[in-house]
Amino acid sequence: MSEEKKLTFATQLLHTGNEIDQTTGASAIPIYQVSTFHQEDPDNPPQYEYARSGNPTRNALERTIAELEGGTRGFAFASGMAAISTALLLFSAGDHLIATDDIYGGTFRVLTTVLNRLGIETTFVDVTDLENIRVAIRPNTKGILLETPSNPLLKITDLAGAAAIAKEHGLLTIVDNTFQTPYLQRPLDVGIDVVVHSATKFLGGHSDLVAGLAVTKDRVLGHRLAQLQNSFGAVLGPQDCFLLQRGIKTLKVRMDASCDGAERIAHWLAEREEISAVFYPGLSTHQGHEVHRKQSTRSGAVLSFDTGSAERAKLLMQQVKIPLVAVSLGGVESILSYPASMSHSGMPKEERHKRGITDGLLRLSVGLEDPDDLIADLERALLQLS
Ligand SMILES: *Cc1c(COP(=O)(O)O)cnc(C)c1O
Repeated sequence: MSEEKKLTFATQLLHTGNEIDQTTGASAIPIYQVSTFHQEDPDNPPQYEYARSGNPTRNALERTIAELEGGTRGFAFASGMAAISTALLLFSAGDHLIATDDIYGGTFRVLTTVLNRLGIETTFVDVTDLENIRVAIRPNTKGILLETPSNPLLKITDLAGAAAIAKEHGLLTIVDNTFQTPYLQRPLDVGIDVVVHSATKFLGGHSDLVAGLAVTKDRVLGHRLAQLQNSFGAVLGPQDCFLLQRGIKTLKVRMDASCDGAERIAHWLAEREEISAVFYPGLSTHQGHEVHRKQSTRSGAVLSFDTGSAERAKLLMQQVKIPLVAVSLGGVESILSYPASMSHSGMPKEERHKRGITDGLLRLSVGLEDPDDLIADLERALLQLS
C-alpha cells in the first residue's frame, strides 16, 4: 500500500491493484453480470450478497477512483447527478447549504426543485470571493458545494481557502471535480470532504457511457455514503463499470493531449478580432489564474469564448466541421456547445445574462484531434463571421 503511494499518477492509473481478476489472473476485472451471489453458509454472509450492495466489477472501479483521488472509499453511481444527489442526502431537513452561483445546471435543479421541498435550503453566492461564503453562513448552515473551474465561464474558487472556512464553522464540503479529474486537481488533499464526478465526461472519456463517482477520505463519511448508496440504490451497472475502468486507464494521456490543444486554441482565439472574450484558466488575464495554478497542475481541456451575438454563435456552429455540436464534454472528440440553449436553457434570460452567460457564448471541450486541424477549422468558420 505505502509502496503504491509512491508511484506517479501515470503508473498508478494502470497499477492501482484493481486490474487483475484474482480468480483467473485475467488482465481486466470481468463484467460480473449478476444480481445475486450463492451463499454457502447463510449464517456467514460472503463479501458479495446482492449486486446493489456490492458487485466485484463495481468494487474494482470504486477502489480505483478512491486511490486516484487520495481517498479511502469510492462509490459508483448511475450518473453524475445520481452521485451528486446521493451525496446531498448527507444533509437533513432544516439544513442550509451554500453553493457556487455558477453551479452545473442539473445540480442547480436538484437543489432548487427537489431538496428545497425536503426542507434543505440553498443560497447561491459568487464563491470566487471567499468573503461571500462567510457572509452567507447561518446558524443552520451545514455544507458548501463547489465547482472549480466552473461551467461555462471557468471561474476559479480557492479550494484550500474554502475548506479552511468550512472547518472553522464545522461545515461539510463537496467539490464537483468533473472538469479537472484527479490527474489535475485533488480536492481531498487540501481538506475537502467529498469529491463527486460526472464520470460521463473525462474519466469515461469516450462519450459512450453515463456514470457518476463519489470519493471521501474520512472513514465515518465513507460509511455514511455507503449506507446512502445502498439505500437510495442509484448504482452503476457492471457493463458501464467495466467501460469506465477501461477509460480511466488512458486518463493521463488523453488529458495531456486535450490540455495541449486547449492551451493552443485559447491563446489563438484570444488574438482573434472576431472574438470579444476568451475564458480559460490558462490565460494570464483570466480571473483566478494564479489561484488555479496553485491548486491544479494544468489548465484543463475546456474553454469558452464570446462570438458577440446569438447569430454569430449559431453561424459558427453551422460552419465548423470537426467538433461535435452537442451537450457534454470530456470526450475523445472535440465538442462545441451553446450554453444559452443547451446547458443553461432552463435559466431565465436576465439571470443568465447577469451571470455573464451571453447569447454569443460558445464552450469548446477539446478532444484528441490535431490542434492544427481544429484551429484551421475554427479559422475557416470565423472568416464567415466577418
Ligand atoms: C455533466 C456534469 C454533471 C452531471 O453528470 P451526468 O453524468 O450528466 O449526470 C455534473 N457536474 C458537471 C460539472 C458536469 O459537467
